[in-house]
Formats: sequence, C-alpha cells, structure tokens
Amino acid sequence: MNTPGISNQNIMENVIIIGTGCAGYTAAIYTARANLSPLLLSGTQPGGQLTTTTEVENFPGHPDGIMGPELMMRMQAQAEKFGARIAWASVETVERREDGSFLLKAGEQSFEAKTVIVATGAAPRHLGLPNEKELIGHGLTSCATCDGAFYRDVPVCVIGGGDSACEEADFLTRFASTVYLIHRRDELRASKIMADRVLANPKIQPVWNSTVSEYLTDEKNEMRAVKLKNLVDGSESELAVACVFVAIGHVPNSGFLGGLVDLDENGYILQTPGRTATKTPGLFAAGDVADHYYRQAITAAGQGCAAALEAERYLSGHA
Ligand code: NAP
Repeated sequence: MNTPGISNQNIMENVIIIGTGCAGYTAAIYTARANLSPLLLSGTQPGGQLTTTTEVENFPGHPDGIMGPELMMRMQAQAEKFGARIAWASVETVERREDGSFLLKAGEQSFEAKTVIVATGAAPRHLGLPNEKELIGHGLTSCATCDGAFYRDVPVCVIGGGDSACEEADFLTRFASTVYLIHRRDELRASKIMADRVLANPKIQPVWNSTVSEYLTDEKNEMRAVKLKNLVDGSESELAVACVFVAIGHVPNSGFLGGLVDLDENGYILQTPGRTATKTPGLFAAGDVADHYYRQAITAAGQGCAAALEAERYLSGHA
C-alpha cells in the first residue's frame, strides 16, 4: 500500500531522511533549503523523543521554555515550508546497490535514494524482567507525559537516576500521591538543577541503592507493587505502586542497517571522527542513534545540520 500523498516510490530521491526527531527535521530544513527536496520517513514515533516530554527549558531561542510536542510541530512546519515531504513509514531494511544508490523497504513500500541520513534516535530501555511485555500499558510505561494523568492520588515509582527519571518524577507529582524514585546508587546522575529540584520536592521519596527485581501484579494482571532489592545489604522488600515509570536510558534504533554501518558495543552507529559520515559512502548518521555522549535535542539538531551539509557536498561531488 502506498502512503497517501506520496507517489514517488519509484523516483530516485536525492536524500531520504529516516526519522523525524530533532536531527531528522533539522537535516530536512537544510536539505530542503538546498533545493534537494528531501523525503522524510517518519518511523514509529513521529516527532521523536521530544513528543513524550513536557517543557523543554534548554533549547536556545525559547527563554520561557516550550513544550516538547510544540517544538517538534514547529520544526516539522519549518521543514515543510521549504519543500520537505513526509511519508509515514517505518524502514525495515536498507541496501546499497552497485551504482551507489540506496533501496529502502518499509512493509510493502519501497523507496530509492542517492543519499540517506539515518536519524532514527533511540528507544526507551527496559529492565528485562519476565512479565515486562505484558505489563506495558497495564501499569508499566516509559512516558510520564503520556500516562501520568491516569494515576491520580495513588503511589507510583520512577526507576532511574538521570535527567529523564528526575523530569518524569517531577512531572508525576502533579497527579500521584507519592512518587518513589528508585535508583541503584545513592547519588543522582541528573544535572544539578534537576537533582536539586527533585530532592526538594516533598512528594518525591528517593529509594537509594535499590533495584526492582520483580513486577508484582493483581488478579487482573495490573501492576500492584514492585519487589525491591537493596544493593548494600541484599535485603528484599515490597513497595505498593499503581504504575512504574522506567527511565533508565535508551537503546539506539540502528539494527535495521545490517552491515552498512559499524556499531559500538551498545549499538550506536560509528561515524567518521568529527563527521556524520559512516563507513558506507552516501549514508550519514545524526542524533541519538550515533551519539551516546551528549544526547541533547540541540546536539541532535546540530548533527542533523552537519549530515545535511555532508549529503549536499556528496551529491555535488565535493565530499
Ligand atoms: P542516563 O543519563 O543514561 O541515565 C540513566 C539512568 O538509569 C542512570 O541513573 C542509570 O544509573 C540508570 N540505569 C541504567 N541502567 C539501569 C539498570 N539496568 N537498572 C537500574 N538503573 C539503571 O539517561 P537519561 O536520563 O535518559 O538521559 C539521557 C540524556 O538525555 C542525558 O544526556 C540527559 O542529560 C539528557 N536529558 C536531558 C534533559 C533535560 O536537560 N531537560 C531531560 C532528559 C534527558 P547510573 O546513574 O548508576 O548509571
């Protein structure tokens, strides 16, 4: 089935950008303004990770902050204004042909391009506990913005100690009676401003040096509690919570590229040092799928810009 409004499956595109987060939209703005008429393929989470956050306070140009979804809608509008097109497709494979062009497959759709910018970001990591998959949507989630309002006046917990965990915990205090912040160490990894905010919030109770070893369910298979393991003395206890918000980092969405790219031990795409180029000529990577270090909206946007410039130079034979 063709994506409505996109009838170009057999057209050789100049640039296909896979992913519509900060990196993808920025690459689209730059390649569109260079008259390359980029095609964006949205992936399963159009707008990327910022669509699941609340207020973004550190994106330059927004002194009063901006809501994540609004920022992404504005990036999309800016890309479309210059002629970028968007197809709602989740790419499953990418092949490089002998002539150097690329063939991308997404279900029954296929696309062809001279260059590809991979900006597929990263997906939330989970703990790997046995009943995890069945519990997602039944008291287990990675998105406080999406699900927080369902848990009013009941205790919930957040797992993790980074900026995401703190942001989620802070947001959840609008609804929950108590937010337990379960962290495996006794010090938060989050930036000082976030850590201070969370530790000063009377509705947030840190649970230090602890991990969740089991999700415990009620007769309807909904979350009712977590089993905690104290990593200092080995003791175990139960903590009643109606929902668990997991915020322990992300896994890069790089698996579909096969041998076209080299990956580090955590699955992040390896780029040519200081560039967005990968080991495959014409294939560029930008944003969280290639960045385990900064992982910020603004650094992803910067990489999207860099990938667009590199794709443009590659197409004009000046790479
Ligand atoms: P992160 O900084 O990697 O933090 C992940 C947290 O999860 C860490 O506290 C880690 O513990 C814990 N963790 C990892 N694996 C675990 C496991 N198996 N069991 C239990 N705990 C585990 O990830 P993030 O919070 O998602 O942030 C990612 C990046 O985005 C960071 O650069 C962050 O600054 C940025 N970010 C920024 C903002 C903002 O500025 N507004 C908001 C969100 C995220 P350890 O500390 O012990 O390693």
